[in-house]
Amino acid sequence: MRRPPPTSAGSASNEDAALAVGTLFVVADGMGGHQAGEVASRIAVETMGRLGGRAGLRPRDLVEQVEAANRAILASAAEHPEQTGMATTLAGLAAVTVGGSEHWAVVNIGDSRVYRLIDGQLAQVSADHSEVADLVRAGAITKDEARRHPARNIVTRCLGRDPLEPVDTWVFRPHPGERFLLCSDGLTNELDVEEIAAVLGREEGPQTVADTLVARAVASGGHDNVTVVVVRQAIPG
Ligand code: MN
Repeated sequence: MRRPPPTSAGSASNEDAALAVGTLFVVADGMGGHQAGEVASRIAVETMGRLGGRAGLRPRDLVEQVEAANRAILASAAEHPEQTGMATTLAGLAAVTVGGSEHWAVVNIGDSRVYRLIDGQLAQVSADHSEVADLVRAGAITKDEARRHPARNIVTRCLGRDPLEPVDTWVFRPHPGERFLLCSDGLTNELDVEEIAAVLGREEGPQTVADTLVARAVASGGHDNVTVVVVRQAIPG
């Protein structure tokens, strides 16, 4: 599904939504006319937010909540014809319990991203569901070319579809000193990974780091809504 960029820089309409509650973090990037993209991303984060503060989450609970978010988006669209076809990406990170110990779980559908920074090394945890990501995986274009490719806005999976398209999950152990970044494509289409890694590694509070990333993305073009969530030392490694 293609997402048109905002009609002007600083457009009043922000189709991204984000959530940080306890050890649950979500970013969503909505799509659809008549502000419906905004509705879809908001429903997605609100539905995920109901897991916030619940102890002993399992990876499966996260996936089930993504399924619930998909049903809620479809139900809203069925009730409001102007929302027909609305959709959203969703990238989430949460502390979960696996085999009696705390792990991280990442869920993803679409092209919002979860990154992890360890000892200055930035790695993308999630894998994009997008046409340009398919081209990168096929070796047809480089990651840098993908950021400027005309098809960069086309996602191959999203919420708001019946049946729900497959949701990817990753589960892994915490690492001391690690940091996470959740972001919409409005950040990664403007800044390269070296710049993101440098800012994320700064010895500043998560809010300052997040503000700096958004400011830099806006300064370097700001062609899209930019949403970031910075997570630091949320569970002991
Ligand atoms: Mn976007």
